[in-house]
Amino acid sequence: MTTSLLNQLPAIYAHLLPPVFSAPIPQESYANCRSCHMCEPSPVPSTHIPFSVASKCCTFPPIIPNYLVGAYLADDPSRTLDDVSMPGRHVTPLGAFPNAESLIQYTRILPDGFGRDSSTICPFYQNGDCGVWGYRNAICSTYQCKHVKGIRGKRFWEAVRDFLQCIEGLLADYCAHDLGISPTYLTHASVDFFVTSQLAVAHGTMAPPTDDDWGDWAPKKADFYRACAQRVRTLSAEALAGFGPHRYAITHANLMDAYTDMTTPTLPLYLKKNPRVTHIPFDDTASFFQIDYLLKMPAVVWPLLDYFDGATPVDRALSRANADLGICVETDYIQHLFEQQLLVPLLNG
Ligand code: SF4
Ligand code: SF4
Repeated sequence: MTTSLLNQLPAIYAHLLPPVFSAPIPQESYANCRSCHMCEPSPVPSTHIPFSVASKCCTFPPIIPNYLVGAYLADDPSRTLDDVSMPGRHVTPLGAFPNAESLIQYTRILPDGFGRDSSTICPFYQNGDCGVWGYRNAICSTYQCKHVKGIRGKRFWEAVRDFLQCIEGLLADYCAHDLGISPTYLTHASVDFFVTSQLAVAHGTMAPPTDDDWGDWAPKKADFYRACAQRVRTLSAEALAGFGPHRYAITHANLMDAYTDMTTPTLPLYLKKNPRVTHIPFDDTASFFQIDYLLKMPAVVWPLLDYFDGATPVDRALSRANADLGICVETDYIQHLFEQQLLVPLLNG
């Protein structure tokens, strides 16, 4: 099953993003967010600690760029600024931000508390759903807890995130500057989550913008955000690419490389069982395998892996396994085991 990136992103991007966002990508069918499997206790003895059902993976304080706040407000007149500036957050010319305490607390729970420590639950999380789904930022739009294409899928989604974060920075700066926010303020502020959280940790505080920073928009911030959304809606893809041509080109090239890598099957000539994999028998038909996370697979995968010894070519190892085990596994499935890192090239030790 395939989908496209545009299907999963805020609609405001539809006319702005390059062709790779319309290209087919595999559906991330391992991540079932409706019935979050990361919240389920491990069905077998393992090191998996479930995520909290109170938060799922939304233990994260997001920055929402100004034009996405504007689209959120413009798309439904009953929405107000209070919806995005609840306790622990404030509004700025670049968007709706978590305060320094929220950012610092988030860095404290990492890595083990992610998905598990509800002290940083996102204020937009509502009864298992995202309250700002159509307006969520680059990090939220691209987070996947598992990847059907394994390590290559992970790299792809990180490249999408990095490209979108570049777009967020270019668009948020453009909107704010074009609407008269002073360059002096913009020099010291960033819509980049990683930069902002590092600054919060370094300084321990983050002053909200003053009325002087907002300028003429101070008494009409909601109008400011709507004007940001309007600017983005009427912007061309060419104009966007021209805002920061070098950064745009570099992050786009990285995304294209990651897309090609994920969608072009390449099987090494020799593979061996990953020495890091833990096999956890389940029943007659299925087993669990754990490297970074638990994967349920047919029980026959475990004896199958032993045929790949790093010295026998993959096609010959597969023929032998099929004959000995009475199965008819195809090369595509070996590709899948390779992508999930159950089989690794010799360099992986
Ligand atoms: S992406 Fe988040 S909500 Fe979806 S399955 Fe994974 S942990 Fe659960
Ligand atoms: S904005 Fe939505 S997706 Fe992102 S952390 Fe909050 S609830 Fe989750």
